[in-house]
Amino acid sequence: MTTATVSGSRRVLRRMRSIMAASLPVQSRLDELVRVIAGEMVAEVCSIYVMRAGEVLELFATEGLNPDAVHQTRLRVGEGLVGTVAMNALPLNLPDAQAHPKFAYRPETGEEIYHSLLGVPILRGGRVRGVLVIQNRTQRLYSEEEVETLEVIAVVLAELIHGGDLIDRSEQVPAQGNAILPVRLTGISINEGIAIGEAVLHVPRVSIPQMFADDPASEHARLAHAVARMHRAIDDLFASSELSAGGEHREVLETYRSIAEDKGWMRRIAEAIDGGLTAEGAVQKVLDDTRTRMSAVSDPYLRERLYDWEDLANRLLQHLSGENRTAASEELPNDVVLIARNMGPAELLDYEPRRLRALVLEEGTPTSHVAIVARALDIPVVGQVESLLNRIDPNDPVIVDGSNALVYVRAGDDIHQMVVENIRLRDQRRARYRAMRSLPAVSRDGATVSLNLNAGLLMDLHNLEAFGAEGVGLYRTEVPFMLRSELPDVANQTDLYRGILDQAGGRPVKFRTLDVGGDKRLPYMRANVEENPAMGWRAIRMGLDRPSLLRQQLRALIAAAQGRELHVMFPMVTEVAEFAAARALIDRELAHAGARGQTPPSRVHVGAMLEVPGLIWQLDMLLPQLDFLSIGSNDLFQFLFASDRGNPLVAGRYDPLSPAVLAVLRMLVERCGKAGVPVSLCGEMAGRPLEAMTLVGLGLRELSMPPSMLGPVKAMVRSLDAGALRAYLDTLTEVPDRSLRERLRSFARDHGVVVEDFR
Ligand code: PEP
Ligand code: MG
Repeated sequence: MTTATVSGSRRVLRRMRSIMAASLPVQSRLDELVRVIAGEMVAEVCSIYVMRAGEVLELFATEGLNPDAVHQTRLRVGEGLVGTVAMNALPLNLPDAQAHPKFAYRPETGEEIYHSLLGVPILRGGRVRGVLVIQNRTQRLYSEEEVETLEVIAVVLAELIHGGDLIDRSEQVPAQGNAILPVRLTGISINEGIAIGEAVLHVPRVSIPQMFADDPASEHARLAHAVARMHRAIDDLFASSELSAGGEHREVLETYRSIAEDKGWMRRIAEAIDGGLTAEGAVQKVLDDTRTRMSAVSDPYLRERLYDWEDLANRLLQHLSGENRTAASEELPNDVVLIARNMGPAELLDYEPRRLRALVLEEGTPTSHVAIVARALDIPVVGQVESLLNRIDPNDPVIVDGSNALVYVRAGDDIHQMVVENIRLRDQRRARYRAMRSLPAVSRDGATVSLNLNAGLLMDLHNLEAFGAEGVGLYRTEVPFMLRSELPDVANQTDLYRGILDQAGGRPVKFRTLDVGGDKRLPYMRANVEENPAMGWRAIRMGLDRPSLLRQQLRALIAAAQGRELHVMFPMVTEVAEFAAARALIDRELAHAGARGQTPPSRVHVGAMLEVPGLIWQLDMLLPQLDFLSIGSNDLFQFLFASDRGNPLVAGRYDPLSPAVLAVLRMLVERCGKAGVPVSLCGEMAGRPLEAMTLVGLGLRELSMPPSMLGPVKAMVRSLDAGALRAYLDTLTEVPDRSLRERLRSFARDHGVVVEDFR
């Protein structure tokens, strides 16, 4: 949502609130609401249709249509445009409503003079409660901001309808089966892919039969038996063949196992038993204490660990009671789409992996333990879906589109068919990209582009082969650090980096040193509260101020590379002196390794990430010291535009395909070219075909991106005449537009460049 939308919707919401609080008859309040909404949306018509029993949408209030039609005009779900909005539970935005095949003319309304129409569903609890419509005389397509504002207004109206003043609550209960309408939920993409299945709700139910006990000795004995059973069951669970291969999921599961064996946890439970509680009461008390401690922690990574504790406590309670009280113990459908608030990694494995098709979480982040295990199982995952558990019922049909972070619940036949068709097309595209895997990324006029992938998990490395990448252009070393419960020592890190280089099989891997601090916290490190963490004490700043951590990492990288080439780059370099200091640490560690008689890497390439604009003015001093430069466009743009990349209010406000950004990138490519320093780009932009096309046109010959985008970007490169694009870009340097996107899209279309912007 843009700032304009937010302030626009705030104003209208304020006015709506005061109308709703006024002591007027309910019809007068509704009449006033449509008048205000029409005024705020600059619409000639605003109408509210409310869903009545029997799936009928009744016009309850209107500004602009014939007032006599109120409570007279009724449409069935699926009938007319209003009925279509209700049927699909999706907005309809039409410049010429009457040209739509579903337009149903109702003479009593007098709406023939209005052309454009925007209708949004009024949703509550996953069900359509009505439809809100605005109309205008002129033919116009409503902007995204207007759609969003109307959707926000619909949320308030949903509460009004639900309150029971408009229609009796009993009318709001859906009739058997068919009145439960489809909804489309959005979240964040945690793992890609599309799957279809039946909703299974994971809601652990734990009841404690008795809190207090007279005989602590027997409670201790019960606890000991339950703990032993639990350990055995966890071992069996983790032995499942689906997860036997190595990778971070094994580490996640080992961390879980070590928490299960945590002596402190056992001691606290034992103390609670000594204090007079039953074993169950003691487990619950210790969990409650942990929750209280964790609730004071603002760090998202640390808070993730709470799910491991909850999972273990529930598991132990199940072993104490002898009952399994989740859906995992019930008969499961063949295609399970698991729905949960959040869960620990082992809880996911309680559901037979061969039946699991997808996972949807109300909370959940890409680095949560359950997400890592779900990725190892290769199922799509969508996280952070608001009010998820209130909007899905058990056995609802669900389609999960992990790539686009969408979840369709109770989708109608049309959406279902559309999704199935999308899956078919996606499979076709994938097959096409797979066939291109071993073809070179060379443009039509002979420019070779090195395509690499971004990685952070050992399991990402198999994508090198699967997608035909040349190497890893960005290995985010902080990811494995975030997954562990304690700081990995040098030996541990050496194993990890060695494994990565082994898996890469001679392809170059650019290891970025720890980019932690600021908002990327490690669970085991004390963090300062910072007002602007992205611009705070992070990355190389922290590495240089606390050099032991950075030196340990460099030592491990050097030890892992023995006899092989090593690429290391430093994040967030702001001034050349920082780079020189970091490079000196590498030299020192190389000298130490030599003194210990260790085989050194065959060659060490040391690079900097260009993410802070200030460094651009030190390129003359920096470039001679560099073996390569990697442009971190995600951070570079947020600092160039002073626009927080993680803040949805501004994240999409400025276009990377703007004259300013292209000027900066063009200059960087030229300067690096003159200095003979290889330059690559590893931000999100490299993985978007239109943006990647522009980068190649600007002269970049090395890109690094998420694996799934390698195919689309290679297809783009192979269909591009890089020289022609360069000549075209040279004509755009003086253009005053805020974005060159449309012009570049037209170039692609006119020159037959394949720009498929999906996975
Ligand atoms: C970047 O900033 O562009 C980058 C690749 O690093 P990260 O996204 O990890 O900050
Ligand atoms: Mg960055």
